[in-house]
Amino acid sequence: MPPAHGDERRITQVLLNLVGNAIKFTDAGEVRVQAIVANGALVVSVSDTGPGISERDQQEIFEEFRQVENSATAKKGGTGLGLAIAKRIIELHEGRIWVESSLGKGSTFSIRLPARVEQQARMA
Ligand code: ADP
Repeated sequence: MPPAHGDERRITQVLLNLVGNAIKFTDAGEVRVQAIVANGALVVSVSDTGPGISERDQQEIFEEFRQVENSATAKKGGTGLGLAIAKRIIELHEGRIWVESSLGKGSTFSIRLPARVEQQARMA
């Protein structure tokens, strides 16, 4: 991957959160991390073979204290804050975070980060 500007500690925190969730919610199968460069941005995806997330819940899990209320995920514990914090960190980097998933088919969380953050380039 090429070098990129950003807050290394915070971006690491986001990735650990996504990978941690993927491992936490996946009982069988695999967790896969993929990183590519596309149009000057880094795109990192974390895919799992866990329970998946319904379309309705996908709208809500990036909000604070939201957890999917089904038996598969509610039992696993957690704060319901990780994705809300991740979203803030990524958006402060002028990036984007999203999920693609359907129930029973696993989930893929992706972040897209501009390799060069304009605000930081201006400050330099
Ligand atoms: P936490 O994991 O601490 O509950 P998060 O904000 O990281 O908080 O996630 C919010 C909710 O989104 C989780 O409680 C879970 O219901 C759902 N979720 C997150 N990642 C996954 C995943 N990989 N597979 C299934 N559900 C997930």
